[in-house]
Amino acid sequence: ATPTALLVGTGRGAQLGILVRGVEALESARRIDTIVLDKTGTVTTGRMEVVDVVPVPGGDRAELLRLAGAVEAASEHPLGRAIARAAVAAGGPLPAITDFQASAGVGVRGRVGGVDVRVGREDDVDAAGRADGATGPAGLDVTAEGARTWVTVRADGAVLGRLGLADRVRPSSAAAVARLRGLGLTPILLTGDAPAVAQAVAAEVGIDEVVAGVLPAGKLDAVRRLQRDGRTVAMVGDGVNDAAALAGSDLGIAMGAGTDVAIEASDLTLMRDDLFAAVDAVRLSRRTLGVIH
Ligand code: ADP
Ligand code: MG
Repeated sequence: ATPTALLVGTGRGAQLGILVRGVEALESARRIDTIVLDKTGTVTTGRMEVVDVVPVPGGDRAELLRLAGAVEAASEHPLGRAIARAAVAAGGPLPAITDFQASAGVGVRGRVGGVDVRVGREDDVDAAGRADGATGPAGLDVTAEGARTWVTVRADGAVLGRLGLADRVRPSSAAAVARLRGLGLTPILLTGDAPAVAQAVAAEVGIDEVVAGVLPAGKLDAVRRLQRDGRTVAMVGDGVNDAAALAGSDLGIAMGAGTDVAIEASDLTLMRDDLFAAVDAVRLSRRTLGVIH
């Protein structure tokens, strides 16, 4: 590759709102045949909203939201931001927390006035929650309005209840997926969220292959499995949970509105918050190489 041609690609990238971090990665882009798309914040807006607050029987709705919001105020995950926002809207200032810990793709925990509060995915907080007499939907619930993500809230191990969050598929995602197919790429949806939520989103945007319910390491495994099958993989993601998979893919593409960790792990950053920017990124990579080879 001639440096001049790569620099031309870089300049054109800037015009398209694509920042090129590693020009070398553009080299592998020529062979990309598979594009792995993260769900939350990539195919969807990631601007989630709390739409259900379901305490256990006899539980306190306001307390459930207040404790969850206090811990999530320290989170940068779209789910966490939505929960903190809802808690503030419901009851004003949130209590201070200490010992905040985020576990990518799993959930968060922190201490609120001596109480250990955890908010996270169902399978992490385990089946004990059900045995506690907790009611409400398990894990997920695909309604007429679309898929809903459920997280469980615990205080000192006891289930306080569940929060249901709704996200929206970006209006442009289905058309962008069709364009990616038009470029000869096979799209795959990759998410830590529950399989039914993932299936609903995949169906809405026209993706047939789904890998769901995976932890961050599982996202990397999914990329490696594809590579072992001889595929050359681009991955688009935004979260801390996507970083390893972005770094392990042949062309890592970060959403510009995403986390710093995702951006640092990627070769390209999309400054437009839209999957069509990923279409442009693939075309840019191919054109840049067209000049060179
Ligand atoms: P995606 O792959 O779609 O971006 P993640 O891997 O970030 O999703 O999250 C997977 C699951 O982990 C979520 O559906 C949720 O159950 C749980 N989770 C992750 N972060 C948080 C958080 N800050 N608060 C509560 N639950 C979380
Ligand atoms: Mg994401």
